Amino acid sequence: MTAPGPGREDFGARLSVDRSVPGRRAVDVPTWRGAKTSLPDASLLRDSLALPEMSQGELVRYYTALSERNYGIDSGTYPLGSCTMKYNPKVNDLIASQPGFANAHPQAREEDAQGTLRTLLELRHGLAEVTGLAHVSLAPAAGAQGELAGVLMISSALEDRGELGQRRRILVPDSAHGTNPATAAMAGYTVTHLPTAENGSLDRATIEQELDETVAAVMVTVPNTLGLWEQGIEEVAGLIHDAGAYLYADGANLNAIMGRVRYGDLGFDVAHLNLHKSFSTPHGGGGPGAGPVCCTEELAPYLPTPVVEECDDGVVRLAAPERSIGRLQQFHGNVGVLLRAYAYLRALGLDGLCAVSGQAVLNANYLRTLLHGHYDLPYDRPVLHEVVFSGSRQRREHDVRTYDIAKRLIDHGFHPPTVYFPLIVPEALMIEPTETEPPEAIEALAQALNAIAEEAADDPDTLHGAPWSAPIGRLDETTAARRPVLRWQDVGVSEAVSRMSR
Ligand SMILES: *Cc1c(COP(=O)(O)O)cnc(C)c1O
Repeated sequence: MTAPGPGREDFGARLSVDRSVPGRRAVDVPTWRGAKTSLPDASLLRDSLALPEMSQGELVRYYTALSERNYGIDSGTYPLGSCTMKYNPKVNDLIASQPGFANAHPQAREEDAQGTLRTLLELRHGLAEVTGLAHVSLAPAAGAQGELAGVLMISSALEDRGELGQRRRILVPDSAHGTNPATAAMAGYTVTHLPTAENGSLDRATIEQELDETVAAVMVTVPNTLGLWEQGIEEVAGLIHDAGAYLYADGANLNAIMGRVRYGDLGFDVAHLNLHKSFSTPHGGGGPGAGPVCCTEELAPYLPTPVVEECDDGVVRLAAPERSIGRLQQFHGNVGVLLRAYAYLRALGLDGLCAVSGQAVLNANYLRTLLHGHYDLPYDRPVLHEVVFSGSRQRREHDVRTYDIAKRLIDHGFHPPTVYFPLIVPEALMIEPTETEPPEAIEALAQALNAIAEEAADDPDTLHGAPWSAPIGRLDETTAARRPVLRWQDVGVSEAVSRMSR
């Protein structure tokens, strides 16, 4: 996001259509000297398409300038809590793009795709080992889709037990990611929110009170979205099973415990993982992802189709479990993401996974220590992969909101953390440094956040108007949402931006 020097054009400042010069071409195609063929139906041809006319050099500079305005994990620390924006080894991208994998046709005969299918089978076994849940479908394309699969599997199991009509509730802690209650509601259940106890864990008394023959399942995030371990989860699992309900694990935060703790051993019946978070896929902007769903023997017949399996003839095939909830999408899931996860898992092994989770926890606690005292910390105990501070003090004393703090962080050169989530922390600043940030980067982030806490006291207006250094400053988000500018109009970029701004 560096500004060009004086006199040098900022190629990202004008849209390509605004810099168009009639007659300029990026590519000159030689005149065709062969036989002439007639054009397709004239109604398919558009002559009003006002494509920008630019030279190739201008075009490259234009897109390069735009790409430099994008902040990604390859540009710097990206501490979005819950999202696990960590550095992913580039070698895993290379492996996933090997021609044998990348060119495999999704409709190839199974016999002709044994390399890819066997790789997926080994990934399946690896994830079973990591989660302690022996049965796995790699099909779901996101964490949320894995959740939906898991809950629909529970519905099918209840149907087979003849209890689907009676068990209509799913219990979800109030600290859960929004996808948990949304999943339960989409699957037709009523959501009962469980309050969080003062220490940040599940409130055991409320669970005992709520558990009855109307409960289908309890969805628990382990470790939870406050970055805290669920103390006593094994006993809670026992209570849930005694009441005839299932225990679901949201495994999006696996990077804090992988190689050390397994959902199956804790008593969970079904879990989804976010391979794009924990296992090496660059993600953001909505994808791509993979949210495998892992379960016990009891739920295995309901897994989504397909499940990779080795058959008696030694051929790896894509099978449909006997009472499968069906297909979530076409083909085999996001195979590119699965291949990256496989490469990551094989490269690290069990020792490597332990090192990852150990480092993730160490980094989050280092950051917690560095920020301690500068911001409120509602749940003040050692954390696992992330830490949730609150901007309440800044709001109360200086009328500075967490939103202002996040925007000001951009001026200090960092991507803001997740804000206003989890909902139970007012003015939440949810920060996840991840295992891949070196200590210097964590110190620099803490220094910036602590400097902002001082600015909040000395110069709150600087925070109210931030960011000052970004190509586009503070937007009027209400107007941007109510009257979005979704397509180019011939008004010029500065006019478009000023229409969006206050
Ligand atoms: C990211 C996340 C999800 C949803 O996963 P997607 O892949 O974004 O659908 C669910 N729960 C938690 C705790 C998460 O962090």
